[in-house]
Order: sequence, then structure tokens, then C-alpha cells
Amino acid sequence: MKPIFSKVITLILCAAIAVVSFSGLPVMEADAAEPIVIVIDPGHGGENLGTDYLPIPEKTYTMTVALYMKEQLEKYQNVQVYMTHTDDIDMSLEQRAEFADKVNADFLFSLHFNMSVSHILYGSEIWVPSTGQLYSQGYSAGNEFLKQFEEMGLFNRGIKTRIGSKGTDYYGIIRQCAIRNIPSIIVEHCHVDHANDVPFIQTQEKLKEFGVRDAEAVARYFGLKSKDGKIDFSSYAPLAVPVPSSRVYNDSTAPLYLNARLINYDKTGKYATVELDAFDGESVLQYYSYSCDNGLTWSALQPWTKGSTSMTASINMGYGKKDSLIFKVYNLYDKDTTSNVIQLN
Ligand SMILES: [Zn+2]
Repeated sequence: MKPIFSKVITLILCAAIAVVSFSGLPVMEADAAEPIVIVIDPGHGGENLGTDYLPIPEKTYTMTVALYMKEQLEKYQNVQVYMTHTDDIDMSLEQRAEFADKVNADFLFSLHFNMSVSHILYGSEIWVPSTGQLYSQGYSAGNEFLKQFEEMGLFNRGIKTRIGSKGTDYYGIIRQCAIRNIPSIIVEHCHVDHANDVPFIQTQEKLKEFGVRDAEAVARYFGLKSKDGKIDFSSYAPLAVPVPSSRVYNDSTAPLYLNARLINYDKTGKYATVELDAFDGESVLQYYSYSCDNGLTWSALQPWTKGSTSMTASINMGYGKKDSLIFKVYNLYDKDTTSNVIQLN
């Protein structure tokens, strides 16, 4: 077909389509009875085990929780629930997003379990798209998940974006969904390699609780009503998150400073009370730790007082002579800054 002729044909076709859409039925607003389409994505599968720190790989946990989540979500009205896969198969992140697109997903929830290289981190976290409406929706839905996990007793590691070297969302599932304009989040339920979190995955009952909690988070976010009429979130208001005007970047730098000041040092040499002042202009402070042997060994991470730039730490250093005390503070992205050294003698 000659270019000019094909252009004419294209114009005629466009005109015909325009006539149909303008003269035919009016463009419909979303029908109230049209179900909300949820896609649950059990992270990993097949050869892709995910975190395999424990004898049971991550893919097994994500599938178990996803099945419980689906079962629970289907107790609500006006919702259509799909899973990207129910068999133990390899599936690319693009295929998962394509699946969500094909079923006209209103949201994709990618379920995961975490591990840190240092094995010192614990708690739950949510990764969200970094731009526009997708960021707001992701943050608001993610907030519901973290509220559920905090109720279970897990540490809240926050809601975050992560930008890759190409300047777009680092995580493939989020990037692939964003290309298709599908809201998505990554739900990192807890850390399988930390003693604080392991009790939350050790039994079927605990894994079921994650599934039930995940479903409740979704039901609250979308304001669903249960089929039996016993639960009604239709007047529940999830967190309203303004649409950011530009990309929301992750914090790539450590906290600016940490000052440690000795308030009290017990004569037994065991207990110390220290005032900590820290600042990070880009993200919140999350944990602190301390060392009584000049940084050779460090304590487990302790929760930093949420939203504060200062806090009082009461330290039990154990028996034995201690010469000094040093602290570290960690921000939302686990970047740490070391304090001045407190001399104890
Ligand atoms: Zn994972």
C-alpha cells in the first residue's frame, strides 16, 4: 500500500471510529456493579526460588499466602480475584504484568518474603511505583498492609520507592505494571533470616494470618463489603496520598549526623543512659545499634523512636569492663551513620 493511500485509509478509519464512539452509546463511566479486579502475584516460582535462606524457599511461602489471600478476598462482594500463577512455574515479571493487563486488573499485589545480606534487618516493608497516581495508590494501599502487619507485632519498615540506573522503577514487576498503567506494589511480609520475624512464618496458621491480613488490607483500600454482610469497609477512608508532581526518589545517602551524649553511667559498669540526636533530611530514622568494644561487635538493631530526631537509649552492656560506647543510626533505606565515641572511663 502506498503511504499516501494508507494515510487516507487511516483517516477514513479514524473518522469511522470517531463517528461510532460519538454517535453510538455514550462512553460509560465505570459501572457500579462492575467488579474490582485484583491480581495476586505470588513472588517467584519454578526454578526461581526467591530467598532460600531457610530449607523452605520463598516461592513456597508466597504461594501459600497468596492462596489464603485469594480465598479470603473472595468472601467479599463485587470483586474478581486472579492469581498470576497457581502452579509452581517460572514466569517473567513481564508475563505477570501482561496477565494483569489482560484481565483488566485494578491492582496487582506482588507477595514476597525478605532477607538481608547482613541478616540484621527485621520487619515488613512495601515497595511502590515512583510516579504520579500509581505512587499515590501504591502508598495508600501499602499503608493498609503495614497497619495489618504492625497489628500482628511486626516492625514497620515503611513504604519506599527504588529507582534503577536507567532512572525508572528498579523493581521489574512495578516497572512492567507502570508501563501498562496498572497500580502495583511489592509486599515484603517479613524477614525469613531474622529471629524476630521467623515466628511469623513457622506454622500454617501464621501463614494463613498473613493471607487474611493481606485480604483485609485490600478490602479496606477498596472499601469492600463481605458477602455475608458482616464486614463493611464502604465508609472506611484509606490514607489520602497527594499525587506527586515529579518522580519520588529513594534516599541514597546516610543520615547526616548522630551525636551521642552520656546521661548516666551505672557504677556496676552495666547500664548506660545515652541521649541520641540524629538527622536525615531525606528519609526517616528507623533503627539504632551500639557497640561496647570500639565497633568490633554491634548490638541487634533497636527501633528508633518514630518520627523523632532525638531519643534516649537505655543500654544494658552486660558484665565486664567497658571502655567506650559508640552508636549507629539507620535510615529508611538502611544506610547508617556512626556517632562520636563516648569514653566510659
Ligand atoms: Zn521475593
